[in-house]
Amino acid sequence: MDTEILKKDVVIIGSGPAGLTAAIYSARANLNPLVVDAPANTAKQTTPGGQLMITTEVENYPGFAEGIQGPELMEEFRKQALRFGTEFLETWITEVDLSERPFKLYTLIIASGASAKWLGIPGEAKVPDGFGGNGVSACATCDGPLPAFRNKVLVVVGGGDTAMEEATFLTRYAAKVYVVHRRDKLRASKIMQEKAFHNEKIEFVWNSGVEEILGTPEDGVTGVRLSNLQTGEERTFPCAGVFVAIGHKPNTELFKGQLDMDEVGYLLTSGQSTATNIPGVFACGDVQDSVYRQAITAAGTGCMSAIDAERFLDHLPVAMPSGDEVTVDGEHITPDHQAIITADGHMISNKS
Ligand code: NDP
Repeated sequence: MDTEILKKDVVIIGSGPAGLTAAIYSARANLNPLVVDAPANTAKQTTPGGQLMITTEVENYPGFAEGIQGPELMEEFRKQALRFGTEFLETWITEVDLSERPFKLYTLIIASGASAKWLGIPGEAKVPDGFGGNGVSACATCDGPLPAFRNKVLVVVGGGDTAMEEATFLTRYAAKVYVVHRRDKLRASKIMQEKAFHNEKIEFVWNSGVEEILGTPEDGVTGVRLSNLQTGEERTFPCAGVFVAIGHKPNTELFKGQLDMDEVGYLLTSGQSTATNIPGVFACGDVQDSVYRQAITAAGTGCMSAIDAERFLDHLPVAMPSGDEVTVDGEHITPDHQAIITADGHMISNKS
């Protein structure tokens, strides 16, 4: 097999809001970034441009007073990145070796995002194969305020914090929200459970699973087929929308064993910067954020990654998760800022 060697200062994996913001900033800093994005693949649920490509109206991205369609917004991001000379490569990355510095590339910005988990049931797929984008969503913040869901009966699937948060959020608009959970106990934290239990617009459907999402192309979702997982009994439950909230999966398989991550797989970053445990590798967007997961926060951390990468390539120190600051030359500055340990292990004072 032919191998092509590409020499790049900055490689960005991922082309959602985080990756493309990192690209815009690093391209404007003359770092000639290369953005590697995953090809579209229905089975793997990947789309160049990330999760906004499967969203309809985006009403909360600042700068678009009238709202903008998700794919249109990502097209604008991409054009802006191209305008400053970003290069794109659409390919699957099958392996990443970060053990050898400078790992053939100098800095790596990981913006590979997270994917919502889906139930895998009939009716859930994106339009035209199902009702995804026409009544089925995995993001209440993104889609809940849309007119189609106002004063309607909605179903949220899941029993974790996300499901409680989504259900609570949706009660601002919906007439009623039914949380369908496969057990009779929630996984969500106590405080989130209590909020949901005390909300009179929320009701729980325990020990139940959604087997199918029903509807028509004209009206969108009209109901779900529910099954009681204890008795096997099935019934049709009318509703105008289904929010699947059974968790997200950060796209970090490639980095297992190389980069530090939490138990779910989210990459751990410094907090003071977007640095991971390997100098020169930065992470931004949903791949390192299990809490906010918004396009605007992804774009914000994408900008931070580009500035971190820029500093690093300028031989300036960048804060690591360990508390040390490191430079591209392999120097470590201790967390108390008192000493510099050089690449060959000598300690010198950092006092001016
Ligand atoms: P979780 O993994 O915590 O919960 C997923 C829920 O979905 C569980 O109740 C699970 O059921 C259910 N589920 C999973 N797969 C299926 C399936 N195939 N069919 C039906 N039900 C299914 O994910 P969350 O996204 O809720 O939370 C992820 C992390 O993010 C957590 O650490 C959470 O605390 C945090 N978070 C915090 C928030 C906050 O504090 N504001 C808000 C949102 C998330 P079961 O319980 O039976 O396994």
